[in-house]
Amino acid sequence: MSMLNHSGLLIFTDLDGTLLDYHTYSKEPAKPALNMLEDLNIPLIIVSSKTRAEIEPLLDMNCMTSIFIVENGSAIFLRQDIGLRAEQTGSDLDKYHRVVLGEQYNNVLEALQLSAYECNVRIRGFSDMSIATVSKITGLDMEGAARAKQREFSEAFLFEDDPAKLASFTHTLEKKGFTCIEGGRFLHALGRCDKGQALERVLNIYSHKHPQTSWQTIALGDSANDHAMLAAANIAVVIRRHDGTYMDYPAQHNQRVIKPHGIGPAGWNEAIMQILNQTFKSG
Ligand SMILES: [Mg+2]
Repeated sequence: MSMLNHSGLLIFTDLDGTLLDYHTYSKEPAKPALNMLEDLNIPLIIVSSKTRAEIEPLLDMNCMTSIFIVENGSAIFLRQDIGLRAEQTGSDLDKYHRVVLGEQYNNVLEALQLSAYECNVRIRGFSDMSIATVSKITGLDMEGAARAKQREFSEAFLFEDDPAKLASFTHTLEKKGFTCIEGGRFLHALGRCDKGQALERVLNIYSHKHPQTSWQTIALGDSANDHAMLAAANIAVVIRRHDGTYMDYPAQHNQRVIKPHGIGPAGWNEAIMQILNQTFKSG
């Protein structure tokens, strides 16, 4: 397969609430832009809080989705046939080359439970919930909920206690070497990694393989867990949420920020079309 990408663009996208509609999980409004990326051979890199088991069935959305990042930056999966590798730190697993940036699930659960005990707070994670409960809370069907429970590096959980206690709980977890971040619906506990570090790692892998190309990164996201990824990109697209709001995002130095009008995948389509039109207009 040809991997030629004359533009040097690399697109990193969140899924829920960004490329996928918050309520229906549909990506239909983003179809025109997705087709354009496919025609132009521009890599679309999925960066989600979702698990590998949840992301794999979605990969037919674009022929260039050969790279995905799971569980909020915990691990990068590069399909082996695209020939991109991180020699020192990666290892082969099934049809992928995998780079782990986070911690194993059991270690995350242990730190989470210990922190909850020490702070005397009530939390409820996916590991405590049945598939039916996860389905009810997320709106995923039973198969989707089962896939969401196949966690490898992070725990999604609800903080069922006084919100005033959340800061000290987060601090306790951090002292144990873990991170707590807010997603669209849940809090997530994971190792010391984030979507921004994952973006930089993928960019390094591309730069190593194609040192002559001047890569331009675009990141699209809607929630606090996307903040580091947006901050690491050349162009940050802040996607409008289902309630009409945008997350607080101050532009980084020398960074272009786009806030499309459309909600979720409609705004995704708007922003990518705008960037592609500007990039290829003069060419
Ligand atoms: Mg999101």
